[in-house]
Order: sequence, then C-alpha cells, then structure tokens
Amino acid sequence: LFAAVELAPRDPILGLNEAFAADPRPQKVNLGVGVYYDEEGRIPLLASVKTAEEARVRQAKPRGYQPIEGPAAYTGAVQRLLFGANSPLLTEGRVVTAQGLGGTGALRIGGDLLKRIVPDTTVYISDPSWENHRGIFEAAGFPVHTYRYYDPSTGGVDFAGMKAALAAMAPRSIVVLHACCHNPTGADLGEAQWKEVAQACVAGELVPFLDMAYQGFAEGIDADAAAVRHFLATGIPFFVSSSFSKNFSLYGERVGALSIVTGSRDEAERVLSQLKRVIRTNYSNPPSHGAALVADVLASSELRAQWEEELGGMRRRIRAMREGLRQRLEAAVPGKDFSFVTGQRGMFSYTGLTPEQVERLKSEYGIYAVRSGRICIAALNARNLDYVAEAIAAVLRG
Ligand code: PMP
Repeated sequence: LFAAVELAPRDPILGLNEAFAADPRPQKVNLGVGVYYDEEGRIPLLASVKTAEEARVRQAKPRGYQPIEGPAAYTGAVQRLLFGANSPLLTEGRVVTAQGLGGTGALRIGGDLLKRIVPDTTVYISDPSWENHRGIFEAAGFPVHTYRYYDPSTGGVDFAGMKAALAAMAPRSIVVLHACCHNPTGADLGEAQWKEVAQACVAGELVPFLDMAYQGFAEGIDADAAAVRHFLATGIPFFVSSSFSKNFSLYGERVGALSIVTGSRDEAERVLSQLKRVIRTNYSNPPSHGAALVADVLASSELRAQWEEELGGMRRRIRAMREGLRQRLEAAVPGKDFSFVTGQRGMFSYTGLTPEQVERLKSEYGIYAVRSGRICIAALNARNLDYVAEAIAAVLRG
C-alpha cells in the first residue's frame, strides 16, 4: 500500500524551528516564527483569557456537542468585531458566520463551500502570500494563481500592478486579500486603495475573500477592520476568514471563523445550510473551549476592556521594536533607506535580505529567518535587538 508513497517536502518554517532548537549557541534568535512573543520571549497567556478560563473551570460544565456552526454567543461576537457592533448587516440577517478551526480551518471550509458554488473558477492570491493560502485552495480543488502585490523597490505595494491584475481577472474569480498586516511582507493597502480594490471587485464581478488573521495588530480593532467595512459598503457578497490565534494568543485552541456576507436573509439561510454540510462532513462540529473563552471575554465589559488593553500592549511593543530596529540599522548602514521597517505593519517585515544573507545570519550569528527575508518583529525584544540589528547590518555591508 505505501511502497510508492513519496516523502512530502518538509514545512520550511517547522524545519527552521527544529534547526533552531538544535543550535547550541546561547545568543541564538529565532526570527522565523509566526507567533507573537512578549518582551521575555514567551507566548503570552492574556490575563483576560486566564480570568475567563478560571471562571469556566469553576463552572465545570458538561461537554456536549456544539451546534455545527458554533455557538451563537461566539459567532455573534465575531460579527460585531468584524462588521461593527452597530452594523445594520447584523439586524438584516444577511451574514452567516461559522466557527472555524483557526483561520486556516475557516479558509478551508470557505474554499470547500465555494467549490460547490463556483466549481470552475480560479483563485488568486497575492505575490507573495502566506504559503498555506495556495495549499488550502488547491486542496479545495481550485487552480491557484497570483496577482502582483509586493514592490521590492519600495518595500510597499505595487498598487498599479495589483489593479491591472484585478482588471484582467475573469468574472467570479476568487481574490484572496489580506485585510491587514500582510503576511509575509507587512505591506498593507491604505484606505483610499482599499476603496479602489473594492470597486474593482464590483466592476469585475469578482468574489473577494478577505483573510483577517491579525485584527488589532496594526492600528486597533475597528481601524483594522476598515477593509471589511469598505467591502460591506459596496453591497456585493464576500467572504471573511478571521482568527483569534494572534490577538487572543490562543494558537493551539484553534479558534477562528468564516463569515459570509450575502444579499438577503433568504440567501443567508440557504448558504448556511450548505456550509453546515461542508462542516458536518469534515469534523461535524467545532471544539468548545477556545471559542467559549473568546465569547466570555467579549461578553464582559470588564474583560473586554482588559483584552483591548493587552492587545494594545502587543501592538505598541511591535511598533517599538520596529522603531528600534530602524534606528539601529540607519545608524549602522548610513545612506540606506530603512523607512520600510516602520512603514510595514503587523508581526512581519520583509527585509529584502537575500537567501545568501539569511544563510549568513544563521551560520555566523545563530539568527534564523525565512529564506525570503521575512522576519518576525514580535520575536525581537530589548535583550536581542542590538545583536540582531548589528548582525543584519553586518551581512548587508557584505
Ligand atoms: N491567514 C494568515 C495570513 C496567517 O498569517 C495565518 C497564520 N499564520 C492564518 C491565516 C491562520 O491562522 P490560524 O493559526 O488561526 O489557523
């Protein structure tokens, strides 16, 4: 049975983590990770989450099955975060939300549902994109192509290239867009550009699929949902996958959601019935613990305020690390423009380092980064910032 089974390629980031763990050098730093680390270099357990969790453990509730689409207390909370607590969308009943197994699971059930609705279409992801986007939509059965996005000469977005790509797509093409904190580049669209992209999707009859894995990591909860709100204003149907892995620091609990904006209550009812079939045949219904924690935190005004404060702390720390890295690089490599470090948003930065420079960082300094030159800014802290900046400057000087 297994004689002809080939060994699949190793996940590049997990491979990096293994190499890092095996490195004996005490000064080593892992910038390849995709998680938020605090100033101590640890994954935080948020105090708001801890309080909600302790209360839940005290209640000692039985563990029955959840509704297929997840509990209403959770899906309602997701909708208020994405679309705004006062959005008429919520009272109109036009939006469908289902709990997903993290943002990844939300993308996948969205992909599977779309395969039933528009089986012969093409999916477009940004160039570059989070590497799993391609895998997820290919696994759902779609051909996956890229649209122009990153401009290495500016460290920002090639907006003219992106618009030209959108204009050339066939009607009903699915366009995966990073709603904020683009992974891997950190290069985001501005407000006016989002409006143009939304209009281009209307004009081209495209199916927008917004992926929001980092809400609250750029400017704040509402500000980071600006892209979602622009699409809402157009009135066209669209998909949103969202995740609490990062902003609640609940990675291993796998809490995410898929939201689908439809044209009417009747459409929403039919779409939900199909989405439930997709879920039912995948994993039947979602796990309860992580989603209950999120719902409990968001339902309590006290815990919600505490969470927003904690999220703000993560956001401010990332910004401080960006500032610190930029200042140090500017001082060490005069004449080179490092403004992209603070212009990019979220956990990641595309440094422009070549694969050879990334290799030197690893072999000479024990600093691990992704071959593309992506570094995780949230892995920097006051103890390693000088060392990392000096090492990057040294490899840049050649
Ligand atoms: N989308 C993007 C753009 C991401 O960066 C990530 C996480 N790295 C995800 C989705 C998936 O998040 P989750 O861990 O919640 O599945």
